[in-house]
Amino acid sequence: MTNEASDNLSPKVATAATTVTPEPSAAAPTATESSLSAAENEFCVALARRMETHRASAAEIEVVTQQLGRYPRGIVSIGARCVCGTPLAVVTRPLVEGKIPFPTTCYLTSPEAVKAMSHLEAGGAMNAMNAELAQPQNEELRQAYQRAHQMYLAFRHELARLLGDSEDHIDGVSAGGMPVRVKCLHALCAQSLVMGEGVNPLGDRALSLASGEFSPSVCRCSVRLKR
Ligand SMILES: [Zn+2]
Repeated sequence: MTNEASDNLSPKVATAATTVTPEPSAAAPTATESSLSAAENEFCVALARRMETHRASAAEIEVVTQQLGRYPRGIVSIGARCVCGTPLAVVTRPLVEGKIPFPTTCYLTSPEAVKAMSHLEAGGAMNAMNAELAQPQNEELRQAYQRAHQMYLAFRHELARLLGDSEDHIDGVSAGGMPVRVKCLHALCAQSLVMGEGVNPLGDRALSLASGEFSPSVCRCSVRLKR
């Protein structure tokens, strides 16, 4: 699969949310969030606040536009950068242009990272991860992956609150196949880059597997942010 969210700018994502029950109010944590520890929840809230405060500049949006070959609609901020400063992943608002529900909050933009994830996918990395998730003895991994999903939702929930965006059609929906499957390494990698190591075990794994081709600490950028 290619960058999963490239086709996600359509309301069809709403269908994925049909099994999820009532939207939470802004004040009350959702059922899924409530199983995060206070520290985990606070981490997600603080990250969302930082993203909302540090909005993407015109120069950064221009670079991301070059990376994607299209304007990044609904962009809030640069969620992760290469050591050279160039954006690697962006944070996108939950409701784009006030009407398009957008679950893929952490979105990979670096062409080198996108390519590296595509190579992993083509090499069967997702099948291997799904097989691993299915093995009875890997309960710890399943729980960590579930927690990554919940942190994704908690992060987005705070962004939605700060931006006044409705999560009506994406409530409970994260990205990349979470919480029980792996369907897009680009999405998992983006979460790991934006939220940091230790949040998503399979996003971290994808980054580690791809390190010979892409790493946020080794600049291989074809498009660069000019400083
Ligand atoms: Zn770079």
